[in-house]
Amino acid sequence: MKTFQELGICDEILKAITELGYENPMPVQEQVIPHLLNEETDLVALAQTGTGKTAAFGLPVIQRIDLGLCQPQALILSPTRELCLQIAGDLTDYSQYIDGLRILPVYGGSSIESQIRSLKKGVHIIVATPGRLLDLLERKTVRLDHVSTVIMDEADEMLNMGFLDSINAILAQVPQERKMLLFSATMPREIEQIARTYMHNPQEIVVGSRNEGAENVRHVYYMVHAKDKYQALKRIADYYPNIYGIIFCRTRRETQEIADQLIADGYNADSLHGELSQAQRDAVMQKFRLRNLQLLVATDVAARGLDVTDLTHVINYGLPDDIETYTHRSGRTGRAGKSGVSVAIIHSREKGKMRAIEKIIGKKFERGLVPTGEQICEKQLFNLADRIEKVKVNEEAIAKFLPNISRKLGWLTEQDLIKRIVSLEFNRLIDYYRDTPDLDLPDENTRKPKGESAAKGDRKGRDKDSRTAEEGFERIYINLGKAHGFFPPNLIEMINSLVPGRVNIGRIDLLPAYSLFDVEKGAAKKVVGALKGCEFYGHRIYAEIATDKDYAGKGRRKGKEGDSRRKGGDKHYGSARKGGSDSRFKHEHRPSNSRKERRK
Ligand code: AMP
Repeated sequence: MKTFQELGICDEILKAITELGYENPMPVQEQVIPHLLNEETDLVALAQTGTGKTAAFGLPVIQRIDLGLCQPQALILSPTRELCLQIAGDLTDYSQYIDGLRILPVYGGSSIESQIRSLKKGVHIIVATPGRLLDLLERKTVRLDHVSTVIMDEADEMLNMGFLDSINAILAQVPQERKMLLFSATMPREIEQIARTYMHNPQEIVVGSRNEGAENVRHVYYMVHAKDKYQALKRIADYYPNIYGIIFCRTRRETQEIADQLIADGYNADSLHGELSQAQRDAVMQKFRLRNLQLLVATDVAARGLDVTDLTHVINYGLPDDIETYTHRSGRTGRAGKSGVSVAIIHSREKGKMRAIEKIIGKKFERGLVPTGEQICEKQLFNLADRIEKVKVNEEAIAKFLPNISRKLGWLTEQDLIKRIVSLEFNRLIDYYRDTPDLDLPDENTRKPKGESAAKGDRKGRDKDSRTAEEGFERIYINLGKAHGFFPPNLIEMINSLVPGRVNIGRIDLLPAYSLFDVEKGAAKKVVGALKGCEFYGHRIYAEIATDKDYAGKGRRKGKEGDSRRKGGDKHYGSARKGGSDSRFKHEHRPSNSRKERRK
């Protein structure tokens, strides 16, 4: 099997697809990519959805674009608006490291004027439904005379939908020396006819039947400290705004605790386990089936009665002891020709179990890196933009309100307006994730590079994140870090003014999102108690005696990422203010989920 690099894919695209988790080319990609990059002939591919065909044509199409020529150079025709958006979205993902590449989806049912405006600005790749493209061609708002690649996706569907005439009319306007690829799940006579009329000496390939069941499931593991499992879970959920998944926990208690935490943190989640009454279980399952619930936290036994097949993710909150259980869990996604991901959030001691599972399922787990705050913000910003783009405008009803609004906002430039709309929702999220630490553990159990001193008490060799106090001291965790403008003088001043009596402070380790510091033995309880419920410049303080325990599921979160559940107490410190935006933040940091599901 060849690698993407060996198939000729350039570094920028390689970087993007590696981040998407594409390790090796799928069969259709192995055949189509080199063909599109190097061969002169056209291609007819009998391939179904789920075989990886979007990347098969998408990657070489992107690579062939001459960015210096701001004209449509590639045309991708697809039968529906949804597929159009999916393809454009995938292409955008693949080309995220190619500056200046412009991809435009054009489809019926949305404002033609805005599509015309985008076309005028110049695009390189058009992904279109035939009807709308023809409309644009007839209005002479788009020209296809620089198109050198034409892809017809799901050609049989396009014919079923009656687009034959439109396709003929479109292809007549594309230069003769173009390269053309046609994908179809079936090969009716009309398709052969199109191939004969418009394609040059097409080569034909058949790509194995649609991947079914387990074949469609990717197994991805995230390896983090046990105490960071819950944070990793939240970041994964934040990174996939359209997630529809089950989070499997080992015990009823853990199930309830994780669900409670998710709900408290503003997620659309609920629990399903044996301690609930039958009526409660039925209600939860029904909500989940109807997709009124995005995340179901469940035990294996309770989830048995649930017949939901189209999950995007199965999340193993830790691996089950029994390998069979893992196959049952992961088999709940990737069904009916859809692709799915089975995620395992594990700590390093579970690696052996993971290898054992790999042997049974005959597939390797891919290493996933927990999305960073920046990646989440980027994804959510895109999601917001996508929702803005696709929101249905009720022209009639809104008309009478608009003049006032326009008067109020008329002085803003288009750019200003975009920035403000985006900032409205995202300031919180960006603040929330700013400077949050990476959660991933290195693959080997060695946390420190060889040769680095790890001697106890050696400051240089000590892990800043260590929860072990130095001799004669106790260590305290506090959810304030450098990102909050929290530095040693602040800590000292805080303790002096809030803690009764004198307290010796030892080593202080400031991290971006939280800090750890030592206080003299016997004083930790008093310090933690005094800090409870205080605020530091509007940020509610959480402090506790630090130990190396698994925090998730014990009703506490740490650091910036964990402060969204508030408990009582109203003491203030610094220029602290009561309440502030905390309660808003708690429920609204969670971005909304209306982006149309891709790859369902
Ligand atoms: P498609 O046939 O284009 O609908 O792709 C089916 C699914 O496979 C999509 O979720 C893709 O993101 C995924 N996919 C495509 N190529 C690869 C690859 N080389 N490795 C892993 N996943 C892939």
